[in-house]
Amino acid sequence: MAELGYLIAGNWKMNGLSGDAKALAAAVAAGAGAAPAGVDLLICPPAAHLALAGDAIAGTAVRLGGQDCHEAAGGAFTGDISAEMLKDLGCSHVIVGHSERRDGHAEGDALVWRKASAALRAGLIPIVCVGETEQERLSGKAEETVARQVRASVPDGADGTCLAVAYEPVWAIGSGRTPTNDEIAAVHKAMRAALVGLLGDAKGASVKLLYGGSVKPGNAKEILAIHNVNGALVGGASLKAADFLGIAAAAGA
Ligand code: PEP
Repeated sequence: MAELGYLIAGNWKMNGLSGDAKALAAAVAAGAGAAPAGVDLLICPPAAHLALAGDAIAGTAVRLGGQDCHEAAGGAFTGDISAEMLKDLGCSHVIVGHSERRDGHAEGDALVWRKASAALRAGLIPIVCVGETEQERLSGKAEETVARQVRASVPDGADGTCLAVAYEPVWAIGSGRTPTNDEIAAVHKAMRAALVGLLGDAKGASVKLLYGGSVKPGNAKEILAIHNVNGALVGGASLKAADFLGIAAAAGA
């Protein structure tokens, strides 16, 4: 077990109707007791299903998270959800800066920084996502890109009690492809160095660094054993409770 423990987070994205969400949350909750010590489980259902998923995991160690939040606490922002609303629904975490937000909604580092700051304001733990495009990787700029995104997206003053950062290479998300273990290690080392530069030695070392991008039960053990990998952000495989729980089990293996 790594020193910081592990966070295994499931990003359900825009999948499932209420019955699906209720069944999936209940199945994760039913298996959560078997998760190894030091492994925290987090589910991030669509906003529409947060309340019923929250009911399904009530009384268990499974935690609830949002997939995005607005930077403001409230106001005339049609279709958005505030960090305070997520907190009110029982969330502990919120994903910000996912590449599907950065690309699909033109969200840049400055906005991601403001969203992460909003999460801190509301008492949520932001999971700040960073990651290079395939072109950036091919041109040898993966570490540089990710370090720059960390410096620009992470609010200073945060530490591991209120912040997590996820490395999600854009080309690995939902593609079945993953970087090599050495490539993941190199990027996580660069992320750690960027965080230490931003937050100082102790705070920078205390932040959990998650890897995301085609994590499955079959590759989770080796990915989670990489130095500076303190958890996983899981998309597709989090939609099957057995796979999600299998990834959690691999964290303790
Ligand atoms: C994600 O989108 O956060 C993700 C990691 O997806 P997948 O696991 O499906 O690659």
